[in-house]
Formats: sequence, structure tokens, C-alpha cells
Amino acid sequence: MDYKITRWQQELAEAFSDVETLCRHLQIDPESLPLLPNFKSFPLRVPRGFVDCMEPGNPDDPLLKQVLPLREELRHYPGYKHDPVGDLNAVATPGVIHKYRGRVLLVATGACAVHCRYCFRRNFPYGELQLSIQKLQQAFAYIESRPEISEVILSGGDPLLVNDDKLGHLLARLGGIAHLKRIRVHSRVPVVLPSRITPLLMDKLLETGKPIVLVLHANHPKELSAEVGSICAQLRQHGITLLNQSVLLKGINDDGETLCRLSEQLFAHGVLPYYLHLLDHASGTGHFAVDEARAKQIVQHMHCNLPGYLVPKLVEEQAGAAHKLPVC
Ligand code: SF4
Repeated sequence: MDYKITRWQQELAEAFSDVETLCRHLQIDPESLPLLPNFKSFPLRVPRGFVDCMEPGNPDDPLLKQVLPLREELRHYPGYKHDPVGDLNAVATPGVIHKYRGRVLLVATGACAVHCRYCFRRNFPYGELQLSIQKLQQAFAYIESRPEISEVILSGGDPLLVNDDKLGHLLARLGGIAHLKRIRVHSRVPVVLPSRITPLLMDKLLETGKPIVLVLHANHPKELSAEVGSICAQLRQHGITLLNQSVLLKGINDDGETLCRLSEQLFAHGVLPYYLHLLDHASGTGHFAVDEARAKQIVQHMHCNLPGYLVPKLVEEQAGAAHKLPVC
């Protein structure tokens, strides 16, 4: 079969996967950094466009700190574990996570365009949930047989890394389920690999005939390049609702002014801030945690400086809870 590599696939293939190469590209001496010696199970992956938003020579760059594997990941923090939000207990059938009433998560792939060191799914056994054709049929059967499910959330990994054919099939099947009112997509791709948002992809989303909600994931205003802005404008022109979720990360975005700028920039691109998550307690991520009292101060600063609709909801996830819990 003739298989044409598209621009986004080429960019993904050219993403940085070696820490030394990334550091030298950014004019940073890798010897000066407390790097993690071995991280094969969750390797480095950063698209070049995202690296272009980093400041050369600055080891404290807030985008670099999100992707750099550091020795701090080895430190043990009490209460941190492999599956902090109880996803494995909520697997209804392979590929389907059913936690909340009326909504299910469909894990379309375990792959991501960027590997975020703070990720709560960094230890997730995606292999066990990988959707073969047979498992996919089971997943659709599960959703079809439950009329109370009104929304499917395509998740991952990053669902927009799935190739056009498979994603088109998946979307078409979901589009045919009458009781679904919406399809939601959780993706960091529009921010870290905007070339993936092609006209063909947008057509496939619209062909479902259902309202589409795309929840982006940006943590810092520097992530919103001109290309990201242009992609958001196109998505909006296609009638896609755009929201953003961020994770509150120590040393990266844990100050009110940074998050105010993020909200303003998101709004300028037609994106509304949705959630600001307290860090999920996944093993290897404790050094990113911001304590609750500080988080509340930050959000209070946002309330004092922004209209209410630009202040994201501060939430945390607890395994077994019926919904995300507001932190107030
Ligand atoms: S893109 Fe999302 S799922 Fe993937 S590593 Fe980053 S936070 Fe985790």
C-alpha cells in the first residue's frame, strides 16, 4: 500500500528524543543539570516546534522543565503511586474508563506527541488496554448499550495522534450512536504539534454530526505560539468549542500573574479556561506539587484581576469520587 508521510508525522518523527541533543540545541550544558540516569520506560519526547518556544541558555525555562527528566523523579513521596486517580479500577471494558455518570473515556491510544514529566498516566499500562479491532467493537457495544451515556471523551495518551483512517472510523461509529449528545476530545496536540490539525482532521470531526468540544492542555502562556493561535482560529471557524485545562506546576506556572497571562492569551485565541488541576499524585512527580493553600492564593489573585469567566476552576481528582472535586 502507498503510504504518504504527512507533515505532522514527519515532525513527530523528528521530535527530540535524546536529552543531550536537546540540551545542546538549547545551548545548555547537560553536565550542569541533575539529569535522570535511566528513563527508558518514559523516554524524552518533545516536538521541535515546542522547543522553539523555549528560551536558549535557560535551564529554568518553564517549558523545558515540563519535559526534562531529572533525578528528582527518583525521590519517594508518601502517598504517590502508579495509578493515583483509580483509572484501572474504572475500566469497564478494554479501552473504556467509566467513572462519572453520563460520560465515558475512550482511550484511543497510549501515544503522546510530548512526554510531560508530571503526567498522571506516565505509569499507565496502555498495552493492556490497546484497542484491537475486536476490543474496539466491545467498547462501542458498551457505549451503545447504555443510553444514559451522553458524552464520550476521546482520550489517551493523545487521541489526535491516531492516524486519519482509524480516527475517522472511530468518529464515524460514535457519530452513529443516537444517544450521544457530544463528543469531547482531550488533546495536547493543538499546542505541541499544531500541524496535526489538518483540514481533513477537522472534516472528520465535523462529519460526526455531533457538537465537538476540544479541551486543549496548555500550562504556560509561552506555549501559545502564533501557529497555535492560527489553528485555534480555524477550529473555531469550524464551530468547535475550545476549552483549556492546565496543571498547577511548581516552578513552572505557580504564580497568579503567569496564569492571568495564560487566561488572557487563551481568550484572545477563542479558548476558555476550564480546569486548573492540582497535581495528581503519580509516582515520580512529587517535585511538581503545589500545596493547596498556595494554589488557593494563586486563584484568588486571578479572581482579583480577571473577569470570572477567565478564571479556571481549581480542582483535584480523587479515586472513586463521583466527579472532579472543587478546591475551595
Ligand atoms: S500529553 Fe497529556 S497524556 Fe501525554 S504525557 Fe502529556 S499530560 Fe500525559
